[in-house]
Amino acid sequence: AKSRGRSRYHLYNEAFRYDQVVKFDYEIALNQCIEREELLLHYQPIFNASRSKVVEVEALLRWNLGHAGLVSPADFIPVAEETGLIVPIGEWVIRQVCRDFPKISEKFGPDVRIAVNISRAQFEEEHFVERLNAIIAEEGLTPAQFDLEVTETLVMRNLEEICATLKRLREQGYMISLDDFGTGYSSLGILAQIPIDKFKIDRSFIVQMNPAVISALLVMARAMDLDVVAEGVEDRDQLLRLVDMGCPSIQGYLICRPMGIEDLPDVGFPDLQS
Ligand code: C2E
Ligand code: CA
Ligand code: CA
Ligand code: CA
Repeated sequence: AKSRGRSRYHLYNEAFRYDQVVKFDYEIALNQCIEREELLLHYQPIFNASRSKVVEVEALLRWNLGHAGLVSPADFIPVAEETGLIVPIGEWVIRQVCRDFPKISEKFGPDVRIAVNISRAQFEEEHFVERLNAIIAEEGLTPAQFDLEVTETLVMRNLEEICATLKRLREQGYMISLDDFGTGYSSLGILAQIPIDKFKIDRSFIVQMNPAVISALLVMARAMDLDVVAEGVEDRDQLLRLVDMGCPSIQGYLICRPMGIEDLPDVGFPDLQS
C-alpha cells in the first residue's frame, strides 16, 4: 500500500510539473508566432437562404505548429488575452483579412463581407477603433466590407461604454454581430439596447433544436429588425427545420467547413430534395 501511495504521489507531481512547463513554453512560442509566420486564417462561408448565396465569410484563426498540427483559437486565445498578445495578433488578423479580400471577393462576389471575431481585450484597447480604421484604410478596404463579431459577455462587462463604441463603429459603416447568442445571462430588455445588426444563434441551440425556442428567437429578430445566423448546422434535418422556420442565414459543416481561402469551394445550397 505504501509503495502504491508513493507512486501515485510521484505521478501527480510529475503531471503537475509537466503542466507548468507546457504552459511556460506555450507562452514563449505564442510570443513569436507572428514573426515566425505561424498564424493563418481559415474561412467559413455564411449562406443566406433567401438570397441563395454566400453573403459573408467568417475568418477563423489557426496557429500552425508544424508537426504538432493546427491549434484552435479556443486553446490559445485565452492565453493571448492573458498576456496581452491578443492585440498584435488581432491586428495581424485584420491585416491578413484585408490581404485575402481580393481572393474572397473573386469567389463570392464584390459585395461579400468578412466577419472578424473581436475579443474583449482587443475591444478594450484605448485606440482600438482608430487602429482598426487605420489598418483597413492602409490596405485599401472600407468598413462596409467588415462584420465585427462580439459576444454578449464582452458587451455586458461594460455595457454603456461598449455600446457607445459599437454605435460609433456602425455609424462608420461596420456591421456588428452578437456572437454565441443565448449563452450569456443578459436580459432581453438589455439586449434590445445593444446597437447590433445581427445575432448568431449559438450551436448549442441548434443541437437541441427546440422549435419553440428557435422560432421565438426568429420572431424576436424580425421585430427588432435584426438579421440572424444559425451557427454549427451539421445535418440536413437541422437545415430543413431551420429553413422551414424561416431562418435567414446558415453556417456550419453541412454547408462548408472552415478552410484556407485557396481551398474554398464555390458553395451552393445543399439540395433539399435528394
Ligand atoms: P466562434 O466565433 O463561435 O466560431 C465558431 C466555431 O465553431 C469555430 O471554431 C468553427 O470552426 C466551429 N464550427 C463551425 N461550423 C461548425 C459545425 O457545423 N459544427 C461544429 N461542431 N463546429 C463548427 P474555431 O475555429 O475552433 O474557433 C473557436 C473560437 O475561437 C471562435 O468561436 C472564436 O470565439 C474564437 N476565434 C476564432 N478566430 C478568432 C480571431 O481571429 N480572433 C479572436 N479574438 N477570436 C477568434
Ligand atoms: Ca464568431
Ligand atoms: Ca459563435
Ligand atoms: Ca462559440
